[in-house]
Amino acid sequence: MIEVVRGDITKLDVDAIVNAANESLLGGGGVDGAIHRAAGPELLAECETLGGAKTGQAKRTRGHRLPARYVVHAVGPVWRGGGHGEDDLLASCYRESLRLASDLRSIAFPAISTGVFAFPIERATRIAVREVKRFLAAGGHSLEKVVFCCFSAADEAVYRKVLAPE
Ligand code: ADP
Repeated sequence: MIEVVRGDITKLDVDAIVNAANESLLGGGGVDGAIHRAAGPELLAECETLGGAKTGQAKRTRGHRLPARYVVHAVGPVWRGGGHGEDDLLASCYRESLRLASDLRSIAFPAISTGVFAFPIERATRIAVREVKRFLAAGGHSLEKVVFCCFSAADEAVYRKVLAPE
């Protein structure tokens, strides 16, 4: 039910991919830029109707030219040392994204906030895995597959370690 893959999230054939967006929801660097490039200008046009989102929130759009049918745009926190609610805000991103995908069968997440936003990877991974496991166990959704899409081998190793039994 939970899978770890390494690669480009824009290539994944899943119902929804999650974007590590910023509050404007109008595109940016990293995975956000890659998703907008692959989805085409129609994605930006749809995002312009959303009015942005607060940190910890998520909003859903269509996937346009992506293989994925939908994009869930989640705004992760900028790491400011850990004492500014970063853990809770990141957990909220995962919960909101899963809630917005609860009518779908598959969703893929990038490592939200761990790039330019500098959230420590292992700490972020533990939060991501905890929230996904909790959501899946609670029921009330149609999800059959949750993918953690890692961009680097180092990130993939962290996800595999955190997901390994004990
Ligand atoms: P943030 O601003 O939330 O930190 P970034 O896009 O800078 O977002 O980084 C989030 C994660 O997404 C990082 O692990 C980065 O390596 C990864 N990433 C960048 N491009 C892609 C992509 N095309 N597919 C999957 N992950 C990506």
